[in-house]
Amino acid sequence: MKKFTVLLGALLIILVAIVLVKTWTNAPGAHQKSNILEPLTKEAIAHMSQAIQIKTETPNDAYEFDTATFFAYRKFLEKSYPLVHKNLPRTVIDSFNYVYEWKGNDTSILPMVLMAHYDVVPVEASAVKLWHAVPYGGEIKDGYIWGRGALDDKSSMISILEAAELQLAKGFQPKQTILLCFGADEESSGNGATAVVKYFKSKNKRFDIVVDEGGEISTEEMKDVKRPIASIGVGEKGYVTLILTAQKAGGHSSIPAQSTAIDILSKGLYKLRKKQMPAKLTPPISAYLDRVSGYTENFIKKVELSNMWLFEKQVLNNLSEAPTSNALVRTTIVPTIVNSGVRDNVIPTFATAYVNSRILPGETQKDVYNFVEKAVKDTNIKITYYHNYSTLPSPTTDIHSKAFKRVEKAIYSVVEDVIVAPMLMVGASDSRNYREVSDGVINFTPITNAKGYHGIDERLLMTDYQKCINFYTLLIQGSK
Ligand SMILES: [Zn+2]
Repeated sequence: MKKFTVLLGALLIILVAIVLVKTWTNAPGAHQKSNILEPLTKEAIAHMSQAIQIKTETPNDAYEFDTATFFAYRKFLEKSYPLVHKNLPRTVIDSFNYVYEWKGNDTSILPMVLMAHYDVVPVEASAVKLWHAVPYGGEIKDGYIWGRGALDDKSSMISILEAAELQLAKGFQPKQTILLCFGADEESSGNGATAVVKYFKSKNKRFDIVVDEGGEISTEEMKDVKRPIASIGVGEKGYVTLILTAQKAGGHSSIPAQSTAIDILSKGLYKLRKKQMPAKLTPPISAYLDRVSGYTENFIKKVELSNMWLFEKQVLNNLSEAPTSNALVRTTIVPTIVNSGVRDNVIPTFATAYVNSRILPGETQKDVYNFVEKAVKDTNIKITYYHNYSTLPSPTTDIHSKAFKRVEKAIYSVVEDVIVAPMLMVGASDSRNYREVSDGVINFTPITNAKGYHGIDERLLMTDYQKCINFYTLLIQGSK
């Protein structure tokens, strides 16, 4: 017995020693300087401001599409970027989606795509008074350029064009062909990007790098990490919506039965919300945790993250606590629409709920269906797929790929002391379509702690704008 205790003690000491050694050797990287290549010119600022002033809203109803405005935006582009329009042939797809081709002199290398969209979500009329600037004013104050589209996503489009124009002026000739692809309906249907990819497929084109909006830089994401974290989107979650329908003969509300269709559905939704699909670490999130782990100043957290072989379950529990990190480690399921009833004195025969799910890589729509069926566990609730839109999780871009490495290198150059890590995108973007023609889709723009997306006070920090231009300049120069 005594021998056994001694052995157990010795094993425990060895275990603790391994854990501590792994923690201590997981040191942060050295200080790294950024290298700003180009100053932000007056012209670049004016262009961004002018771009915002052209109200390229995409309405939900295609009939309300304001063609004149989109033509005005095209004119603005032609006037502001003469060298791009002189040297890079433009293909117009489905009226307002553009592909500019910057021919490289080595056609054996697969081209690189720099993409963005220039349509914007509408500004809510009731929220205009809450803005601290005119929403489509393109005002410049307090170090920002203000207005709808300043972040999403004219910042990317204008920065790409500024970088291209600048390099053309310097006589830069890429070795790798570069395509600049701009979409006009990302915020509504996304049909433009689908049409552009269809066009590429018809020409058997493939790309080794595709860079689109998505990932950004944060100094707020992990409070105990004192360096900025650049999260590079390398994959997207899947999407499915299920319809839950409860049916029970209704009638007059003065003589209600013990259970109604609404009661049955409510119980089902309650049971569903009490359960969650299991938490899992996917390759991008594992790699993310691995890359930031050395920088955390929270000792316990560092011990856990440095020893995932022992603490994976605990880490998953911690991540499950906040909605944003929870969404990164599991398939989420939430009701978004509930319908029932037509009059206040009639018990309805039907009650339906739309339940939206964002699917983690490695899982499918069928897994979601099975989980919901099991959680609800009521044969009185019929479950069907909502066939409007559904997609599997996207494949993920390898962090050892040329695409990831080129973007990573550019980020190190433009942001001081940055930690670069891969990330899973929880929402969808135009670049999803490009995964059919590329294994190197990357979602990233070097904007820090951006706020105002789709909301009030959307604005672009001038220094972020400069970083964006520098970032795309480096990507373009990397094609040499
Ligand atoms: Zn966007």
